[in-house]
Amino acid sequence: MLISLIIPCYNEEQSLPFMYDALKELREGQKDTGKTFEFIFVNDGSSDKTSEVIKKFASEDEDVRYVFFSRNFGKEAAMYAGLEASRGEYVAILDADMQDPPSLIPSMIESLDKDECDIVAARRVTRKGEPKIRSMFAKMFYKLINRMIDVEIADGARDFRLMRRVVVDAILRISERQRFSKGIFAWVGFRTKWIEHVNVERVAGETKWSFWKLFKYAIDGIVAFTTAPLRLATLAGFASAVAAFGYMIYYFIRAVILKIYDTVPGYPSLLCFILFIGGLILMALGLLGEYIGRIYIESKGRPIYIKSEDEGYGRSKR
Ligand code: UDP
Ligand code: MG
Repeated sequence: MLISLIIPCYNEEQSLPFMYDALKELREGQKDTGKTFEFIFVNDGSSDKTSEVIKKFASEDEDVRYVFFSRNFGKEAAMYAGLEASRGEYVAILDADMQDPPSLIPSMIESLDKDECDIVAARRVTRKGEPKIRSMFAKMFYKLINRMIDVEIADGARDFRLMRRVVVDAILRISERQRFSKGIFAWVGFRTKWIEHVNVERVAGETKWSFWKLFKYAIDGIVAFTTAPLRLATLAGFASAVAAFGYMIYYFIRAVILKIYDTVPGYPSLLCFILFIGGLILMALGLLGEYIGRIYIESKGRPIYIKSEDEGYGRSKR
C-alpha cells in the first residue's frame, strides 16, 4: 500500500536534509509492514537552494517526487498541489521544518489501518517557544472564528494530518482559490482522531510567517467561511434608525407637549432626519450584502454534501 507524504517547502534548504533523513528512517521502519512511500516535495518558489536540494534527493531516491512553482504562491497552494499530485491510499502533509514530527506517522498509520477513523490530525497542546502575543492572538482567533462558522476548528490544530484517499478527493473537490485549509479540513467532515503533541521548534531556518502575514491569514479564514461581517451594516443601520426614532420622540414630547423651546429651531428635526436616512441607507447596504454574500457562497461551488460511504446506489463515484 502506497502512502504519500507531502512537504511544502519555501526557503528550506537548511531544514530539508533533516527532514529527508527522518523520512528515510520512517520508510526503513515500515519496511516489514508492506507499506511503500512517495515523498512529494512542493517547492513554493524558494529563492535559496531548496530546488537543488530536492533535485539531489530525487536523483538518489526513486520515492522522491517534486513539484516546483514558478513563484511563491503560499503554503495553501503548495498543499493543494501536493494533494493533487499524490497517488497514495493514505496521504499526509508535513512541514519541512520538522515541527510536524515524522515520528508520529507510524501510530497515525496504525489508527487508519485499524479503521478507527478516516483522518488522524495533530494538535499542539503547548505553544512554548512562540512569542506570547502571537499565542494570545491565535487563541482569540480560534474563539472568534468558532463562534462565527458552522464547523469547529480546534485550537492548535495543525495542517499535519494523515488521511484516507476519500478525504483527499473531497478536499480536492473544494477548489476555491482563496483557501483556508484548516477550515476546509474541518468542513469536509469524516471521522477525525486527534493526536496531541507539545510544540517542537523548527530545526533550522526561520518561520515564513510574519505577524502581518498571519493576521491576513486569519482574516482570510473568517471571510472564507462566513459572510457574517456583511451583516454588520444591517445591524449598524438598524441601530442608527432606532436611535433616530427615539430622538425624534424625545424632541416631539419636549416641543409639542412640554413646550420647551431651548434648541436652535430646525436642528432636532434635521438631526433626526439625517440619522434616520443614514440608518435606512446602511440597512439597504446590508440587504445588498446579504445577496452578495449568497453570490459569494455560490461562487465557491462547494459540494452540497460529501459522502463517506454508500450502499445500493451502484458504484460510488466518490
Ligand atoms: N511554506 C510554504 N510557502 C510559504 C510559507 C511557508 O510552502 O509561503 C511552508 C514552509 O516551508 C514550511 C511550512 O509551510 O514547510 C510552515 O511554515 P513555517 O514553518 O515557516 O510556519 P510556522 O511553523 O512558523 O507557522
Ligand atoms: Mg514551522
